[in-house]
Amino acid sequence: MPELPEVETTRRGIAPALTGKLITELIVRERRLRWPIEAGVEAKIRDQTVRSVARRAKYLLIGFDCGTAIVHLGMSGSLRVLRADVAPKLHDHWDMRVAGGAALRFHDPRRFGSLHWTERDPAAHPLLTKLAPEPFSNDFDAEYLFRATRRRAVAIKLLIMNSEIVVGVGNIYASESLFRAGISPRRAAGRISRAQSRELVAAIRQVLAEAIQIGGTTLRDYVNAAGVPGYFRQKLFVYERAGEPCRICKTPIKQFAQGQRSTYWCPRCQK
Ligand SMILES: [Zn+2]
Repeated sequence: MPELPEVETTRRGIAPALTGKLITELIVRERRLRWPIEAGVEAKIRDQTVRSVARRAKYLLIGFDCGTAIVHLGMSGSLRVLRADVAPKLHDHWDMRVAGGAALRFHDPRRFGSLHWTERDPAAHPLLTKLAPEPFSNDFDAEYLFRATRRRAVAIKLLIMNSEIVVGVGNIYASESLFRAGISPRRAAGRISRAQSRELVAAIRQVLAEAIQIGGTTLRDYVNAAGVPGYFRQKLFVYERAGEPCRICKTPIKQFAQGQRSTYWCPRCQK
């Protein structure tokens, strides 16, 4: 499933090909995505210039003067910029044709992705309005996390993966951030100190920033949204390393199930 770093990598990959360019046509081959693509979106986007390509959580926001296309990659979606005359393959559900011969093509075998159109402030769209702060925003700081964890008995790993607290911290990034901050994934959120809150915020930002940076340098015109970006795997301290020695202390990495997901941690480095 594409996580925040893959979506940001996608944004960076497609933005130069779209920003300031005229979209001549939206071609929809399959409307039945997670939500059906609303009839009439083609007419709204035709002959409109892209003003911005932004991201909020895992939504890509393609901004025009007359509205915004809100795109989600779902479980298996990806976007790539290619020549418009390249024949579409199975699961290539829509193309935005760009003046000059390119196209932005959406591919999604499982069809959990989506395309919405809004003419209002996209931040006010029902999909976006309730989203928690972005991990890189000023709203997500040590004090915010400290306050959000008070009197919470839930395990800290589950709390940071809760998109009502902060968006974009998926399973890989939660495990890795907790390792770097030296915090056990099982620790009750309410027992995190101010100092640990500061370290955890810094670790979350660092892990996500590294994943984005690596994704951005290994994926160029083709933006693959499936799985962990490129070489990031080689830099992982704990994720999917059960039984292997901790890169810091050599203790075997442990794995257990937490909220139906696998958690990986070092019982010696993380308290
Ligand atoms: Zn260790």
